[in-house]
Amino acid sequence: MIIFFGPPGSGKSVQGQLLAARHGWRWLSTGQLLRETSNVEVVARMRKGMLVDDELVNHVFDEALHRAKDLDHIIVDGYPRHVDQAKWLLGLLPKHEREIEAVIILDVEDEEILHRLEIRGRLDDSPEIVKKRLQDYREQTKPVTEFLADQGIRIETVDGMGSVGTIHDRIEEVMEECSLV
Ligand code: AMP
Repeated sequence: MIIFFGPPGSGKSVQGQLLAARHGWRWLSTGQLLRETSNVEVVARMRKGMLVDDELVNHVFDEALHRAKDLDHIIVDGYPRHVDQAKWLLGLLPKHEREIEAVIILDVEDEEILHRLEIRGRLDDSPEIVKKRLQDYREQTKPVTEFLADQGIRIETVDGMGSVGTIHDRIEEVMEECSLV
């Protein structure tokens, strides 16, 4: 399992999907999985940029891991979002006979993030909600990388500025360094 980290708009989804498509791996995004649910409460929380209940997210993720059981590698995007989810994930991995092979952090300047989100124009990309999501990322999600590093998991920061192709090449280099390709 390769986990992609980075603030909203850092390119996790584009890069995750590209990497998965190139190698025949699966991209698993909790945001995407949750967007596909028809749960009105969940959709309302997502529109406001609020995190969805752990119990539901963990369940959705567990099921998605099960569906991906025959695949060598999985690219995870948007999960774990805070340390409690990370602890839960570590407990879940043995059941699925998986481990976290690497964590990739996409590093993008704030100004570029705001520009990308403006172009994307998703419902939860309005300036006020973006501000909240960025704050949640800094306060809740960033500590996850420190927590995982403390568990001995390999953390790699990739420069997320530049064209999609250039960033993809940088990620591919890290995959080679980690002997994943
Ligand atoms: P994303 O597509 O990763 O930007 O996620 C979009 C929205 O889905 C977030 O703002 C949250 O409302 C919800 N979401 C995605 N992943 C999680 C998660 N791991 N825990 C809680 N909520 C999540």
